[in-house]
Amino acid sequence: EALSRTAEVDVKGGWKVGDPVPYAALTKTFSLIEATTKRLEKTSLLTSFFWLVIQRSKTDDYNSLLQSVYLCINRLSPDYVGVELGIGESLLIKAISESTGRSLATIKADLKKEGDLGLVAMISKNSQKTLFKPKPLTVPFVFSNLREIALSSGHSSQAKKVSIITKLLAACQDFEAKYIVRSLEGKLRIGNAERTVLVALAHAAVLAKEQAGKRWSKEKVASRLEEGANIMKAVYSELPTYDIVIPALLTHGLSDLHTYCKLTPGVPLKPMLAKPTKAIGEVLDRFEGRRFTCEYKYDGERAQVHRLEDGSVSVFSRNSEDMKAKYPDLVEQLPRCIKEKTKSFVLDAEAVAIDKTSGKLMPFQELSRRKRKDVKVEDIQVKVCLFAFDLIYLNGEPLLQKSLSERRELLREHFQIVPGEFDFAKSSDGSTTDEIQAFLEESVKDGCEGLMVKMLESDASFYEPSRRSVNWLKLKKDYLAGVGDSLDLVVVGGYYGKGKRTNVYGAFLLACFDADAEEYQTICKIGTGFSEEMLQTHWDTLRPLEVTKPRGDIKPGGAKPDVWFEPKVVWEVLAADLSLSPVYTAAQGLVEERGISLRFPRFIRVRDDKSADDATGPEQISEMYERQALAQSKGGKKSKGD
Ligand code: ATP
Repeated sequence: EALSRTAEVDVKGGWKVGDPVPYAALTKTFSLIEATTKRLEKTSLLTSFFWLVIQRSKTDDYNSLLQSVYLCINRLSPDYVGVELGIGESLLIKAISESTGRSLATIKADLKKEGDLGLVAMISKNSQKTLFKPKPLTVPFVFSNLREIALSSGHSSQAKKVSIITKLLAACQDFEAKYIVRSLEGKLRIGNAERTVLVALAHAAVLAKEQAGKRWSKEKVASRLEEGANIMKAVYSELPTYDIVIPALLTHGLSDLHTYCKLTPGVPLKPMLAKPTKAIGEVLDRFEGRRFTCEYKYDGERAQVHRLEDGSVSVFSRNSEDMKAKYPDLVEQLPRCIKEKTKSFVLDAEAVAIDKTSGKLMPFQELSRRKRKDVKVEDIQVKVCLFAFDLIYLNGEPLLQKSLSERRELLREHFQIVPGEFDFAKSSDGSTTDEIQAFLEESVKDGCEGLMVKMLESDASFYEPSRRSVNWLKLKKDYLAGVGDSLDLVVVGGYYGKGKRTNVYGAFLLACFDADAEEYQTICKIGTGFSEEMLQTHWDTLRPLEVTKPRGDIKPGGAKPDVWFEPKVVWEVLAADLSLSPVYTAAQGLVEERGISLRFPRFIRVRDDKSADDATGPEQISEMYERQALAQSKGGKKSKGD
């Protein structure tokens, strides 16, 4: 079953062992993936394609699979290197016009009708009469040209980009123009989440390498596939770079992958995350009888600090973006907090704004005013202090599978406090309700959001990359005030404003993200609480993301906004409560057939440290709904420990 689609994604006759991967095979796979919303089908299509790539690559050819994978996720390098595509519409229209001879006006008119420049490029190509068949495109050719486009800068770069794109388009056949243009736009729109790619890659590797020559029963194949997918996801969460993982996979196979691909300083891993809790009683119930620690939950920006053996330092955001340009002061301060015996490390920490004179903690907003790039140390107004709460790599050794108490001991042993620059997250290991309550109040008084409560001992306290784990709980002051946790939602639609607000969107349609189904489920319309200035900013950000039809992976339900957006922008939102809804699709089928909606949603802030895939999921929403229902059935009585 995993390979059932091989014949469909293959290209007949033109792909022999040792040949470069035909771009036609990749785009055929894309078009079949785009045509289905079923995750299993997407997975088996991709598995079939990757399997073919592996079968037809010569030994030691890692690039065929590597470049194919990158094109599937529409990236040209690991996340943290940031070689990005995102070519503007007008440049692409120009290139389409040049390569097809159609006028700019016709292309623009088509775009208005179709709402997808990729489709317009394909229509334009197919309406063109060609005298001879162009040489077929290959994955390495497309990949290297896309990289050249992404990397070219400077004043003559526009003309260069148009010329490369025109050349690529001239060679396109069938679906190719559609996907080349979408790749260039930076939005592939086939609803292909990275998780599916990882699973498919694992399945293809199991079937190509490990099963070769062996006769496995159906049950054995199924269990090996599942095991393989788990290994792949675990390895990738620790070392999220295909540049290392794919060569290792092809050389050593899946079963040994973990031996060769371990957490490595310089490659940011996906951080561990916490689950919300509403009451101290809930913390005690979850951690019953086991040792745990409470730490201040600082209100800053997550910073993963890496130091390599050679002394070079990198600071990464929650989303693996390189933040050295935003925090040159952090980099400059760092050597002062390192002890001599500390060579290489990965620290998990929060970068927090502090008042220059009093040393008091300041809210996140102070940091968010900083530019993201080209910050000069001498221009910095707000000082930043690093509060370290975890050490996940030290002197050549990953520490993920050590208990938190051991990691914390190593952290304290190898780093030193520098007032105003570096400190350890304040913690208390007290375990009674009164102690936690007192510490929570203290944290809020000191300017924190509340507490993080973490398991201290045993394998339950290991560092779990990329996981929202029950072994880390967050206890925010807002929850105790009965407000509930905020949600991070994706802006998927806009409603034009009325009255004074006709030049901007006056309201927005929000959605949560279901990582299993890989779909965005609508949850509410939000339209109050925005200042004119904010609406203008949202307009500026969202207008370029407008599309005429909802993307295939958006499940709109009954929502009918005036315009749809590419799901990209994430907002943090608070709501008065949650209710069942016949209109919206969030968490449909989890609590009831109907979806769940937010009542009186309020915009808190833009979360540009989160991508659309990091948005709140339907399980969290149904959990919140059920907790609220439980609280109401108790007649608003406080639960144990509040
Ligand atoms: P939030 O919206 O609350 O920041 P999140 O989804 O970004 O949530 P959570 O796992 O829910 O992430 O909350 C943990 C976040 O809190 C971390 O990403 C980190 O930035 C911050 N933080 C502050 N202090 C700590 C601490 N002592 N331990 C872990 N994380 C901390």
